[in-house]
Amino acid sequence: MNIGGWQKVSLVDFPGKIATIVFTNGCVFRCSFCYNPDLVVGPFPARILEDEFFAFLEKRKGKIEGVVITGGEPTVQANLVAFMQKIKAMGFAVKLDTCGYLSDRVKEALASGAVDYVAMDIKAPLEKYSLITNIPVETDRILESIRCIINSGIPHEFRSTLVEGIHEPDDILKMAQLITGADAYYLQRFRSAEKLINASFKEKTAPSEALLKDLAAQCEKYVKKCELRAAA
Ligand code: SF4
Repeated sequence: MNIGGWQKVSLVDFPGKIATIVFTNGCVFRCSFCYNPDLVVGPFPARILEDEFFAFLEKRKGKIEGVVITGGEPTVQANLVAFMQKIKAMGFAVKLDTCGYLSDRVKEALASGAVDYVAMDIKAPLEKYSLITNIPVETDRILESIRCIINSGIPHEFRSTLVEGIHEPDDILKMAQLITGADAYYLQRFRSAEKLINASFKEKTAPSEALLKDLAAQCEKYVKKCELRAAA
C-alpha cells in the first residue's frame, strides 16, 4: 500500500469505534474543493511503511477497534483487499472510504468480506460530476458503485461536501434521489482551506445551515436518515 498519511487515533471517523486512519496516495478525481492535494497530485513518496503501521496495530489491540482507509482514493491501490484482509485477521474492523469511481474495485472490496463499513462521496448530481471532479466522468460507474453498496448488506453511508453557488438546493435533492434506499446521507458544509486543488475555491462558502437542515428533512423521502455533519 502506498500510504501517505496516518492519524493514529480518531473518535469520530468510524461510527461507534475508536479508530486509526490511514490515508492512501493517489486519486482518480481532481475535485476543486479537495483539501488533500498532497495525496492526489503525485509524485507520492510512500511516507509510512506498512511494517510500521502493522506494528502499531499489534501494540494497540484492545484499545483501537477499527481502521479507516481513506485517501486520496484507496481503491487505486492494487493490493487494497490483501491489506484489509490482514487488518481483519488481526481482529480490527475496517471502514473503507471511496469516491466510487473504480466500481469494479469497489465490488471486489465489498465481496472480499473484509469491509465492515463503507462510506462513498457523492460529488454532485450526475450531470455536474465532471464539473466538480475535473475529469470526464463515466457516470454509469458512479451508479454501479451506489447500487453495489446499497445492496451489499454492509452498513454504509453516503456524504456530499456542499459548496454555495455550485450545489443548488435542487442538486442536493437529486443526489439524495440517486442513493434512494441508503442507510444514511450526510450533508457536509464546505470549509475553505489553505491548500485546495482549485485555488479559486478558497473564496467559496457553504450553503447556510438553515437551508441544509430544511433540505436534509426533504432528503429523508429517499434515504433512511439524512443529517448535517461538519466536513472532515
Ligand atoms: S476530494 Fe476528490 S480529489 Fe480529493 S481525495 Fe476525494 S475524490 Fe480525490
